[in-house]
Amino acid sequence: MSTNNTKAFETYESEVRSYCRNFPTVFVKAKGSIQTDENGKEYIDFFCGSGALNYGHNNPYIKEKVVEYLQNDGVMHALDMYTKPKREFIEYFENEVIRPRGFDYKIQFVGPTGTNAVEAALKLARKVKKRNNVFALMGAFHGMTLGSLALTTNADSRKGAGVPLYNVTHIPAPYMFPELDTVAYMERLITDDHSGVEKPAAIILETTQADGGIYVLPDEWLRRVRALCDKYDILMIVDDVQVGASRTGWFFSFERAGITPDIVTLSKSIGGYGMPFALTLLRPELDQWKPGEHNGTFRGYQLSLVAAKAGLEFMLNEHVEDAVRERAPFVEKFLKENIETIDSRITTRGIGLLWGVDFGAFEGDVAKAVIHKAFENGLIVERVGRRDSVVKIMPELKVPMDTLEKGLNILAKSIREVVG
Ligand code: PMP
Repeated sequence: MSTNNTKAFETYESEVRSYCRNFPTVFVKAKGSIQTDENGKEYIDFFCGSGALNYGHNNPYIKEKVVEYLQNDGVMHALDMYTKPKREFIEYFENEVIRPRGFDYKIQFVGPTGTNAVEAALKLARKVKKRNNVFALMGAFHGMTLGSLALTTNADSRKGAGVPLYNVTHIPAPYMFPELDTVAYMERLITDDHSGVEKPAAIILETTQADGGIYVLPDEWLRRVRALCDKYDILMIVDDVQVGASRTGWFFSFERAGITPDIVTLSKSIGGYGMPFALTLLRPELDQWKPGEHNGTFRGYQLSLVAAKAGLEFMLNEHVEDAVRERAPFVEKFLKENIETIDSRITTRGIGLLWGVDFGAFEGDVAKAVIHKAFENGLIVERVGRRDSVVKIMPELKVPMDTLEKGLNILAKSIREVVG
């Protein structure tokens, strides 16, 4: 931290109250995987705006499109009027991404941020099914506004509401009680009139729980949930806000399980360039909002539409999904050979370019010490999961191999310095 700016930093810390506690400096520049602070110190970014920067900081291809649009006096704001960026984004997304993968979705613009997409999904599911209850998984994170927070089980997040939150039944995630068949359990809740549980309008889940601690839900389990939803006329909502946009090696995270959710939420990297943007995809028969029933000032922000289309082009033209699949085994091997071997209490798990190093078996807050040590050593990583005990590894998806290796080596060194 620059001594000149200590006062300014303290102000930020007291006002922002979150990430700057872990990363006590003032960042001024970012390019690709590298973020630079005002003292000129460079950090490898394995946090990636928690999934908002899958295509890297200031991706040159997307930047060019954004700058070109600004230089040509493109319309910056038009509420939901039809504009060229909107038409081009919709056409490209539908024709190049959604349909070639065998899906048929309508695109609903919902606002700037992930929780807007989740709120829209909840609102629509409840309207269509005329039921209030929703099933959500323990350990999931879906957002901080009242509806999405009601789905989220993290106690610290829920404290922000200060009151009980309703209309959600929380189901253990499949990894929590391996002996419990959670799909059979849900079926029992739905069918047993002594369960005391209202049949839900929807079941919402992340195919890999990200902020919950990097838990990859099995393909077969996801298929069984899809079948359960079909059997009982319940909508399946996949929250792809964090693990969508190719993070796991598939543009839509659920492609790996061969399922088609009824509603999909997208945000973070769908904005391409770190731009605020959120979408809800719906099966066409769910498109039941009349004009005015779900609108808002920043739904479909023009510059985000420009960046989002360029982001999709980059994703396809640069074969980003392949890049993730190529890098994943390298990360997995590194974690098994160079991190799990540091201490037998450390476990690792993940998918694509989303991995977790779990320190939950240690006494004390080891994960916190590790991320602070990593920061000193020039690496930005965050922690997630129960008691924040899992260090999350989330590089840009086309991270150069030498940067990936360097970042992982810094992490290993930092862990050794803390626990070794
Ligand atoms: N859903 C998931 C799966 C998320 O990871 C997040 C953010 N971490 C959200 C929803 C909420 O997104 P936002 O913070 O943009 O509101």
